[in-house]
Amino acid sequence: MFRRTKIIATLGPATDDPEILHKVIKAGVDVIRLNFSHQGAEIHQKRLEAIKRTCTNDYGRPVGVIADLQGPKIRIESFTTGQIVLEKGQHFILDAACPSDAGNQQRVGLTYKQLPRDVRRGDALLLDDGRLRLEVKQVQGTQIICKVAMGGTLSNHKGINRVGGGLSAKALTHKDRNDIAIAAEMQVDYVAVSFPRTAEDIHEARELFRSAGGKGGIIAKIERAEALTNHEEIIRAADAIMVARGDLGVEIGDASLPPAQKLLINKARDLNKLVITATQMMESMRENPVPTRAEVSDVANAVFDGTDAVMLSAETATGKYPEETVMMMDRVCREAEKQPQVRTSNHRMDCQFGRIDEAIAMATMYTANHLLKIKAIAALTESGSTALWMSRIHSGIPIFALSRHVNTCRRVTLYRGVYPVKMEDLSTVDTLEANQLVIDELVKRGAVGKGDLVMITKGDLKGIAGGTNLMKIVCVGEEGKIV
Ligand code: PGA
Ligand code: MN
Repeated sequence: MFRRTKIIATLGPATDDPEILHKVIKAGVDVIRLNFSHQGAEIHQKRLEAIKRTCTNDYGRPVGVIADLQGPKIRIESFTTGQIVLEKGQHFILDAACPSDAGNQQRVGLTYKQLPRDVRRGDALLLDDGRLRLEVKQVQGTQIICKVAMGGTLSNHKGINRVGGGLSAKALTHKDRNDIAIAAEMQVDYVAVSFPRTAEDIHEARELFRSAGGKGGIIAKIERAEALTNHEEIIRAADAIMVARGDLGVEIGDASLPPAQKLLINKARDLNKLVITATQMMESMRENPVPTRAEVSDVANAVFDGTDAVMLSAETATGKYPEETVMMMDRVCREAEKQPQVRTSNHRMDCQFGRIDEAIAMATMYTANHLLKIKAIAALTESGSTALWMSRIHSGIPIFALSRHVNTCRRVTLYRGVYPVKMEDLSTVDTLEANQLVIDELVKRGAVGKGDLVMITKGDLKGIAGGTNLMKIVCVGEEGKIV
């Protein structure tokens, strides 16, 4: 009944019509992504306002918001003619000194002026997500002289990656720093950092976000070869990672992506962090009303791997069938989640826990997975961390995060198997009455009914983060009253 895997949809021109936006969200979007690589801040601000209107007026389900920074994506500048065709075997020059709009059949400018210093003879450079391939023959001052190994049409502003990674562009550009401040002002729930290389890049982004007043989490996009090498320190530094298969695939080679995806998802879960699987999941639905079988399998396999969320990029931002794409993804996830292996867990069975709240969360999941008739878990939470620990354990039981903080409610939209419930402050309510208020909320959502057992975790209702010290099992009786 409740889908556990979360769906992230990137907003764009295709969702700007309020009616379409409404349909797309209603089809099952949990979190939206504002892509700062495209368009200015005002557009993102407008889209955020539209989301707030859609979500509050229509049905009040919290929707999380990710601001995805552009990062130091290295791009060519533009051509006088908009695009050119490169033939295999011809020479072509990437020239840091070429004026930005003066590209032609022989050469084109670069957004990253240091590129000639970073590459050497023999390097392979991929353009436009790997559609074209250049071999570096010689570097001369500002010029990288290449031979075309795989030709094709090349249009303005296409991205450049080096096979094997190792380009030294710093993670946070001037624009990113500016956009972090804008994202903080917009009170987004997550900021996604593009092309980080080390944990340091993530710490720096977090400090900038905090000092601008941002309260959300930081997502590290794993999309460079070095980030894969340093994945453990990056995961520890971030709240969530994104398996950013577009750029990562170009750097490490497509064939290395599936094992990298499994490694990253496992590692993130082990370290109590969130993980998003992204890019081309339903790519053919940009143009077609149905996906390929391979895409259906890809989404299902990400669910089997244990991802928190699956992400849509161009499919919803500029595609022809944004609503159908979300509906399809929703169906595929639900079907995959029926498989027994995604509902049971041996995770952390041999771990020792240092914290009371963490131990309560783990004990709750063990009990929920083993005691028949448990229908739901209700975690009263300030920061959402109890729900986060719980959601790292595979289970088929829905976890409701009940919080008086709207920020916490929006943040948990990304957690697999966790559903936000906005509650009033229960600190002055007597404990039996509080239990009943919790059950009332779950009954209202159709999550539980007569004869069901429900697990409740909470602290002493004093409203302190990290205060969870209690697990209780209640039975729902007539008319939703606890018996
Ligand atoms: P992007 O990141 O869509 O911002 O490029 C995701 C990816 O590279 O897969
Ligand atoms: Mn990318």
